[in-house]
Amino acid sequence: MAPNIDPYNREITYLRVSVTDRCNLRCTYCMPVKDLQLLDHADILRYEEILNLIEIAADLGMRKIRLTGGEPLIRRGFIHFVGSVCRIPKVEDVSITTNGVFLKEMAAPLFEAGLRRVNVSLDTLNPLKYEKITGRACFNSVWEGLQRAEAVGFRPIKVNVVTIKGLNDDELYQFADLSIRKPYHIRFIEYMPIGRGSSWESQKYMASDEIKSMLERFGPLNEVPRSTHDGPVERYRFKSAKGEVGFIGALSHHFCPSCNRLRLTPDGKLRPCLFSDDEVDIKSPLRTGRSREGLKEIFLQAIARKPRRHHAGNLEGPAAMRAMSMIGG
Ligand code: SAM
Ligand code: SF4
Repeated sequence: MAPNIDPYNREITYLRVSVTDRCNLRCTYCMPVKDLQLLDHADILRYEEILNLIEIAADLGMRKIRLTGGEPLIRRGFIHFVGSVCRIPKVEDVSITTNGVFLKEMAAPLFEAGLRRVNVSLDTLNPLKYEKITGRACFNSVWEGLQRAEAVGFRPIKVNVVTIKGLNDDELYQFADLSIRKPYHIRFIEYMPIGRGSSWESQKYMASDEIKSMLERFGPLNEVPRSTHDGPVERYRFKSAKGEVGFIGALSHHFCPSCNRLRLTPDGKLRPCLFSDDEVDIKSPLRTGRSREGLKEIFLQAIARKPRRHHAGNLEGPAAMRAMSMIGG
């Protein structure tokens, strides 16, 4: 049996790495409303340490890497680091998730470093609402960043939209229209109960089927065939659209049977499931000189601890205590 197979026969091929818990925005659904606690710098993995761990993960079959945060673009030296990740021989696919605030300046150097795929989080096309959601008046920077990423040649450009009732469900048509005009893949993500002290309100949750049927009033959606790196998204396209829309139903569609991922937190914990605070420490063994084989064993322990399914579906409260910005969404 391949080493990266978990007890439920899922092949773990995807590592999501959060490079920092810091962020320049304060999205209400992500960060705690008050008492935000940040890691000490000494507890955050250094780039060399992360590279070492990604190499080991790639050896074990995790060939798809996503760099996220917090906000990855605010960590010093990030462009150089991306270049190093792209050069790891066994890594086949590198992408980042960013809020896009610094993308205008960084898109070209990131592309030169070897990056080709970017997800930009943008929950509204209204600058005032953007400020309400994120706490910062940065809509124009993100918008210009998207245009810049497109001009530089990033493909696909994915736009993550966390869809929240009463907040941005009145903009679904504008996002549909954006997918028609621009070659962007708009990904509607279900609002999830994560993080102690986050502003989670169950009545604002929207299931992806509801989002999809609202969009269908705009025009028929044609299914797009899936490709190998797609993950749990359902992809569709409006007639004559340059881009696509997609739905990620983490809660309603329970995609656990096809879960292929492991997470590495900024403080060096391997996290088997987004919705569970069970974590395996890999930083201490790494810093105390554990051998490469020993570190591989720790990856395998984390893979072996992946639960069959999550239990976040009851919507009653946070399914996991760490904030999304700490885990790396
Ligand atoms: N700062 C970067 C960004 O915003 O893209 C990367 C980190 S952020 C934690 C990664 C993704 O998690 C973003 O697309 C964000 O919208 C999403 N996210 C954060 N909290 C969420 C929640 N409670 N439910 C659903 N998605 C969430
Ligand atoms: Fe920052 Fe991303 Fe969380 Fe918003 S969603 S607060 S941009 S980490």
